[in-house]
Amino acid sequence: MKRALVSLAFVATAICTVAQNTQSAAKTGQVTLKWLGTAGWEIGDGTTVILIDPYLSRINGPRPPGAGSAGTPVPGDTRKLYGWEDAVTPDVAVIDSHIQRANFILVTHTHYDHVLDVPHIALKTHATVIGTESTVNVMRAYDVPEERLITVRGGEDFEFGTFSLKVIPSIHSALDHKHYYSSEKAPAGMKAPLTFRQMSPEGGTLAYLVRIGGHQILAFGGMNYIEREIAGLTPDVAMVGAAGSRKEIYDYCGRLMRALQFPSLVLPTHWDNFFASYDESQQPAIDAVQSFVKEVRAASPRTRVIVPKYFEAIPLESAEK
Ligand SMILES: [Zn+2]
Ligand SMILES: [Zn+2]
Repeated sequence: MKRALVSLAFVATAICTVAQNTQSAAKTGQVTLKWLGTAGWEIGDGTTVILIDPYLSRINGPRPPGAGSAGTPVPGDTRKLYGWEDAVTPDVAVIDSHIQRANFILVTHTHYDHVLDVPHIALKTHATVIGTESTVNVMRAYDVPEERLITVRGGEDFEFGTFSLKVIPSIHSALDHKHYYSSEKAPAGMKAPLTFRQMSPEGGTLAYLVRIGGHQILAFGGMNYIEREIAGLTPDVAMVGAAGSRKEIYDYCGRLMRALQFPSLVLPTHWDNFFASYDESQQPAIDAVQSFVKEVRAASPRTRVIVPKYFEAIPLESAEK
């Protein structure tokens, strides 16, 4: 018992150290991750800022089919409830209070909880947007300049100087108890503002491996993967979709951890209720994600799992490698 208390105190000290480090995390070369909620992340090394699926608006938006209890309205939410035919309006105040700069924005697919804020952020920061043809068509509707759009289909491995990027073919979460399927993509020739319906075609799904500052960071945008496409990758950090739909997938954490050769750090992603604003309690989601933490630990006992908090900097240790 005493030993348990001592180790608890040690953990608390370690957590405080991490928290203090966040203050000076911007120093060059130190790779720092920040969760933006939903499947959104910021990766920075003090020089380059890479965003993945940044979705900060957290609109009280239309629920996808089969959303179930995850789609139930937050009690007391007085914000407008948007329908599929409503025009998309990002929450510019929230975005601008958190996103000052970005060099690259990686988009996994064109569901609105991944792509809605990207045109505004791309226009504001002059970042280059990388994604499927569907993603690029959404950007073109908002007049994001052509020279800042890179269309990919999965399989590319690009060198950018300060980092490199492997684009990985992937598949969408098996929503609606495996009845989710979409081969739709956002078409060319659309004009802003788009409606939620125009931001609902999936357009194919990608994952990304970012190699930066001696780290390899693998990011998924949902609760699925193609095992043969990730087998043999050796990321030290993996953002892994952790919402309930992962349970539709056979041995989700086991196959993933083995294919990735047991990454040092796993960060659960896309597990919060993204229909709720940042100041709402996420306690039901925090409770639910604990089973994911257990699954990772069972599959890979030496892997560290950090359940991220919104905008809290997670500095990567060189020992992560
Ligand atoms: Zn989706
Ligand atoms: Zn999503």
